[in-house]
Amino acid sequence: MDSILSLSKRRGFVFQSSEIYGGLNGCWDYGPLGVELLRNVKEAWWRSMTLRDDVEGVDTAILMHPRVWEASGHVAQFTDPMIDNRTSKARHRADNLIEDFIERLRKKGKNDRAAAIEARLESAMQPADFHAIITGEEIPDPVSGTTDWTEVRYFNLMFKTYVGPIADDNSAVYLRPETAQGIFVNFKNVMDAARQKPPFGIAQIGKAFRNEINTKNFLFRTREFEQMEMQYFVEPGSEDRWFEYWREQRWNWFLGYGMTSDVIRLKPHDKLAHYAKAAVDIEFQFPFGWGEVEGIHSRSDFDLGNHQQFSGKKLEYVDTVTKARYTPFVVETSVGASRSFMAFLCNAYREENVGGETRAVLKFDSRLAPVKAAVFPLVNKDGMPEKAEKIYRDLQKSFKAQYDDSGAVGRRYRRQDEIGTPFCITIDGDTLNDDTVTIRDRDTMDQVRIPSDNVKRYIAERIER
Ligand code: ATP
Repeated sequence: MDSILSLSKRRGFVFQSSEIYGGLNGCWDYGPLGVELLRNVKEAWWRSMTLRDDVEGVDTAILMHPRVWEASGHVAQFTDPMIDNRTSKARHRADNLIEDFIERLRKKGKNDRAAAIEARLESAMQPADFHAIITGEEIPDPVSGTTDWTEVRYFNLMFKTYVGPIADDNSAVYLRPETAQGIFVNFKNVMDAARQKPPFGIAQIGKAFRNEINTKNFLFRTREFEQMEMQYFVEPGSEDRWFEYWREQRWNWFLGYGMTSDVIRLKPHDKLAHYAKAAVDIEFQFPFGWGEVEGIHSRSDFDLGNHQQFSGKKLEYVDTVTKARYTPFVVETSVGASRSFMAFLCNAYREENVGGETRAVLKFDSRLAPVKAAVFPLVNKDGMPEKAEKIYRDLQKSFKAQYDDSGAVGRRYRRQDEIGTPFCITIDGDTLNDDTVTIRDRDTMDQVRIPSDNVKRYIAERIER
């Protein structure tokens, strides 16, 4: 993780937000390479979701009518239990504190005790339930080591702000904690405007905000992040089939972009919400352990049903021929753009031994790679820079390319390996005689010689799968 963090900053993938002021916890900025990678991840998702007949895209507002969050259950229930240690003043999520303790017990082989606490945690609902576990098990504060705990309180994760000049209860709104509600409230608009009927879906990519109690692990848990969500509206009774379909689609999407089945796994939820029919997470093996990157949920008509009730507007599908009407059930796929950015970054990172030296390389799928090609003149004379520049300018019209003429070619390769550039083109003495160049492959490090006119097609064929 440390190597990835330092590479991220050094090469301009991710910077801490407001760094010159000491940073703002839980917020990150994407640098020149990070923004390319993030855009490519989002583009990959967008293409797979919307280049089909049955899914439409939207981009809805971050601020929504406050009743939306009452109907969705977020005002009442989007809370985490929090506890403070009086000695260190450290604040923790009570459930995470207990989970970490269980993990430590398991590492020490105390499996029975761990299982017993886990069972109590599963059924914990009230603040007092969490408090009883923490004090009863004498779980120490990781910072001070003491057990001097406050009571447990529930804390709502939504950021509140105000519309208009007067900050009072009537003007309060929330920054959306998920993008899904913008889709639910537009269900009928989209169905009618796009002339869709179930089964069909609505997809959206956008910012979401959660006032997380603890932010940690780089981009994994942040207060501002991006989600890529798709709600698929189906006829009641067909939801199990669609749940399986989307679980498979989403699993294959990760595999298609370079993950393997030993770094991702499917984790069905042990505990289901009362309205849910099925839920599974796709988890990635981060350097700090397994963590959710995506949730796939079968949510019945809970969301549309609640919005009908709160808004008084019908959110139904009516068959024009049979006149049959129903409120569709929803199967949703919800993935973090920022969290999967981090998963793709970790997945790509390798340190390899090449001729006794360590080469750090990001083995991105070429469609995700922030820079697709780099062009090097072997030396800065004999017409090589002019030729190299011409090839570079031509490539740059179609995809992100870099020009590098400083230092030995080996060092230039290393610089490109480190940012995951799949192809490096070198212009050398032979180029001036026969108009051929070498193209070196990032992963195999093999070089081939091809006519310079073919460079663009050669690269395009390999990245536009
Ligand atoms: P967690 O249990 O990790 O808090 P969650 O189950 O609350 O996540 P969802 O509400 O299902 O997450 O959100 C869907 C996706 O949005 C997650 O799989 C994750 O990729 C992303 N996500 C949620 N919260 C955050 C966050 N604080 N920072 C970054 N990404 C997040």
